[in-house]
Formats: sequence, C-alpha cells, structure tokens
Amino acid sequence: MAETNGRYDVIIVGGGPAGLCAAMYAGRGMLKTLLIERGLPGGELLNTEAIEDYIGFEHILGRDLADKMTRHAQKFGAEFVTDTVSVVEREPDGSFAVRTELEKTYRAPAVIVTAGGTPTKLGVPGEQEYAGRGVSYCAVCDGAFFKGEVLAVIGGGDAAVEEADYLTRYGAKVYIVHRRDQLRASAILQERARNNPKIEFVWNQVVEEIEGEAKGVTQLKLRDTATGAVSKLPVGGVFVFIGFQPNTGIIKEHFDHDAQGYIVTDTNMMTSIPGLFAAGDVRVQLTRQITTAVGDATTAAIAVEKYLAERRERAAVGAS
Ligand code: NAP
Repeated sequence: MAETNGRYDVIIVGGGPAGLCAAMYAGRGMLKTLLIERGLPGGELLNTEAIEDYIGFEHILGRDLADKMTRHAQKFGAEFVTDTVSVVEREPDGSFAVRTELEKTYRAPAVIVTAGGTPTKLGVPGEQEYAGRGVSYCAVCDGAFFKGEVLAVIGGGDAAVEEADYLTRYGAKVYIVHRRDQLRASAILQERARNNPKIEFVWNQVVEEIEGEAKGVTQLKLRDTATGAVSKLPVGGVFVFIGFQPNTGIIKEHFDHDAQGYIVTDTNMMTSIPGLFAAGDVRVQLTRQITTAVGDATTAAIAVEKYLAERRERAAVGAS
C-alpha cells in the first residue's frame, strides 16, 4: 500500500467558502481536519471584487472575506495543505485515500468535496487563441488591463450582469451579449445594469468567433438566434460568464449526479457514496451563493461528526 502522509477524521477538498466553513465547523467539532486547496484559500471570493449579499457584511471585499474565513477556520485547528487533489478513492474498509499531484496520500474515513467549478468555455474559434490576450473569465483579475476599451460580456446570469457592472469602472462601454432577450440574473442586478449608462444589451446573439490580431481581440462575430444574420461587434476584450462546470473529476467511482454533472446529495450533504460528502458549487441546488455554500458546509461538517460516531459504534459492535 502507498505511503500515508497523514490520517485525519475528515479531509476537505477545496478551500472556497464551503471548504473553509466546513473546516471551521469540523475543527470546532474536535475532528482532526485537513483542508487541501491548490491555490490561495478563498475560491471564487478571490475572483469577486465586492460582496454585498453575505448577511452581516453590507459591503466587504472578496479577498478580505476570504482572509477572515481562512483565519477563522485555522483558529479551530484545521490543517491546510497547498496541493492539487488528483483522486479520491474508496479503500476496502470504506474509508478514503486522497491522492495529490505532489504524490502525497492522505487518509480519512470521511471526505467533504467542496471543489467548486470551472468556468464554462464558449468553445468557439479564437477563444483559446486569445485567452489572456483579450479573452478572460475573471473581471476582477483582468478588468484593469482594459482601461478605456470597449468590452463585451457574454451571458445573462448573475455573474455576467454583476461583472459587466464591475467592468464599467475600466471599460469605456460594456456590451452584455445574451443569447435570449431575457436575463436570468436576479432583479436587483438587472436593475443596476439597466441603470448603468455604460452598459448596452445585445439581445438574441450567440458568439460564432472571437477575432483579433497579434496584440489581441478586435471583434466578435455574432449570429442572430432568430434571423441567423451574422454581424461584427468591435471590442477590445471579451469576458465570458456562461456558467460553471462542477469539479467532480477527482471522484473516480460512480456517484449520483444531475444532467450537468452536479453532485446529488441527501439532506445531510452525503453523496451516494457513504462517507463522501459534498457542499457548495459542486452540489445540485437552486442557486450558488456564499450563503448557500456555507449552509451546505455547516450541515456537511456536522453530519460528518454523526457519521463518524455511527461508524465507531458499528466497529465496536462488530468487534465485541
Ligand atoms: P448561470 O446562472 O447558469 O447563467 C449562465 C448564463 O450564460 C445564462 O444566461 C445562459 O443563458 C448563458 N449561457 C450558457 N451557455 C451559453 C452559451 N454556450 N453561449 C451563450 N450563453 C450561454 O451562471 P452564472 O451567472 O455563472 O451563475 C452561477 C451561479 O452563481 C448562479 O446560481 C448564480 O445565482 C450564482 N451567482 C450569484 C452572484 C450574486 O448573487 N452576486 C454572482 C455570481 C453568480 P440562458 O439564460 O439562455 O440559459
């Protein structure tokens, strides 16, 4: 058997709000807790400038909330490791081996997957070619590179509308290019965008190609979803916010999921694999907010405590 680099009561995969909250509760529940995160803890918080829908914080910078959550989780004893989890495998005794890219193996009888998601790509010509040269998936990370430019945001959900609003602080103008004539975004974000004089909506258009020259993106080739008419929209940058794909590839065994690949859990956040829990953006749910992520994570961490106690009881009965 491969070397074990540590045994824990629970291993948390991913350090966004869900992972950090699960680590705080698990640590506070006196569980020996390991959180593995490939980058800086904070997850999507680090891609968000300002947060104003986390109750109790009328306005807080994403990075500040990430920092507070990290320190809070560490205060109760959770250990943090910076590494990328490559696989979560079930062992013959029903516990888990969590293997990483740095070739470490950590073991625990319970795992909480809080690995979030990866931005969905448009999958059109030019997208990959101009990635980092005008094509971006993160307004906070890249917005400042586009001072005075005309920009396009693709999508009609909360992320697209919120980030378009954010980008108007840099861009001369921001088009929101949406494939329908109705937004999916929440009413308050829609209203804010409609009242922003720098935002213009481009309805019923899909991106067929992102075109450019050596220094970067110069225009979008659009197709009207109703008429099929093709047009060009000159822009200096394009920000794609058309959803996320859940990061579930690390789970090699079959688990119940929906058509988009989001993990189905029971009300205790346990997946169809006993001892494997999921919380936050990887899980099937109506909405993906910080509040829902930390809610899921609270349930998951407390459910893990119960699960471990029951597992110990079963083992004791089996041994007697
Ligand atoms: P989303 O809600 O799934 O919206 C994705 C948008 O992209 C939809 O408008 C969709 O169009 C469009 N789209 C999907 N595939 C496309 C394609 N191939 N070409 C063109 N357009 C495409 O995703 P999201 O905005 O990333 O949000 C994800 C979750 O995070 C949501 O639950 C959201 O509420 C939450 N979130 C919340 C906040 C906040 O409250 N402050 C901020 C960001 C995200 P259709 O509408 O036609 O399907």
